[in-house]
Amino acid sequence: MRAAVIGGGAIGLASALVLEQAGWEVAVYDPQGFDLAEPSDEIGARVWALGPKAQSLLERLSAWRADTRLCPYQTMRVIDFTSDAEVCFTDRDLGVLVEADWVRKRLLDRLAVSKIVTHSEPVTQVTPEGEVWAGDTRLLQADLVVLAEGRAARIAVASGFERIDGGHHQKAVVGTLAATLPHEGEAFQVFTPEGPLALLPLPSQGEGNRVSLVWSVTSEVASALEPLSAEALARRITLRSEWVRGDLSFVADPDWIPLSQHRLAQDARGCVVAMGDTAHGILPLAGLGANLGFADVRALESVLATGVQDGDRIARTIERERRLDHRAVSVAMGLFSDGFRDNRPWARLTRSALLRTANAHPSLRRMFQELAG
Ligand SMILES: Cc1cc2nc3c(=O)[nH]c(=O)nc-3n(C[C@H](O)[C@H](O)[C@H](O)COP(=O)(O)OP(=O)(O)OC[C@H]3O[C@@H](n4cnc5c(N)ncnc54)[C@H](O)[C@@H]3O)c2cc1C
Repeated sequence: MRAAVIGGGAIGLASALVLEQAGWEVAVYDPQGFDLAEPSDEIGARVWALGPKAQSLLERLSAWRADTRLCPYQTMRVIDFTSDAEVCFTDRDLGVLVEADWVRKRLLDRLAVSKIVTHSEPVTQVTPEGEVWAGDTRLLQADLVVLAEGRAARIAVASGFERIDGGHHQKAVVGTLAATLPHEGEAFQVFTPEGPLALLPLPSQGEGNRVSLVWSVTSEVASALEPLSAEALARRITLRSEWVRGDLSFVADPDWIPLSQHRLAQDARGCVVAMGDTAHGILPLAGLGANLGFADVRALESVLATGVQDGDRIARTIERERRLDHRAVSVAMGLFSDGFRDNRPWARLTRSALLRTANAHPSLRRMFQELAG
């Protein structure tokens, strides 16, 4: 059986390896190519909080190893800037902070010793029958096609999938910060009036404490913050994070990333299935995006384990199994984003009550942890 994977990001590469392990012939297409240097000394700005299920998948694919660049965290604390409400999760296996490029590099290393074939031709379209096209040239006839081309979903749209804009157009500033106080393995998030601000624990550099920043703000707030110098922005973040990690300073210039939510009207057409950010783009509020994508790959792994080889059936099964999770998470992220930015007194009271309830009920906390993968 032959599979084509469109997109060589972490989700596409993990899908390719899962298919190969199940005995499929696999070709992966990505116009950006498949070369990636080992990350440099300082931890990069794109960092993921990966849950235990995503880690186990990467272990099964031999794409995980102990490394000083990984930072396990045992506590996640969420507070509201405008009230004293907080929710705190503690678990020995809450997750690991890891650079996105580190994960992709481990997957590429595995690919290099597999029989998977890589191509840099720009695919333009796929058909529900599994034909892969670049302009007028048919590149491949596959029994299953995985679309994992990231958020833009251009090939998906060109191939007849309908992309639905879920709104919440905003921006996030990300970067690595030096901190004067240690994080003690705690991931911290505060709902500021501008939007949710996360300081995620990173391995220290020598004597220096490090945290990773993700601050999602509306486009209007971003226009006011983007012109600030890195020093002025770091000062603002120090204040908004209530000095929880002491005085903060950027170790390299921060990046501004456009954000929004989207989904596809359907995730499967014939033997073509959309996975990862192609199928669901969500706000990076609880560190869920890549975890959700790896859950799509786990659904592929499960259906292949049953021995099914019919591409249409595999695509339909993944869509059926994953759709509810995709919807639930994107609705929850939208509600969080709107609810925590609202500064009217009743809204502040409601979210204070919600955080207190979540903190008092371990079952609710467990549900959030489940969602985080
Ligand atoms: C600020 C921020 C913070 C985040 N934090 C977290 C977090 O803490 N935890 C978490 O789980 N997730 C997080 N995410 C989400 C995570 O980054 C994404 O969910 C993840 O990168 C999706 O992987 P992917 O492989 O689906 O897509 P991508 O990583 O976008 O990969 C897509 C690949 O497809 C290729 N491609 C593009 N066009 C084509 C084409 N036409 N043909 C072939 N290939 C193509 C691209 O070159 C790329 O290699 C965060 C996201 C943001 C923006």
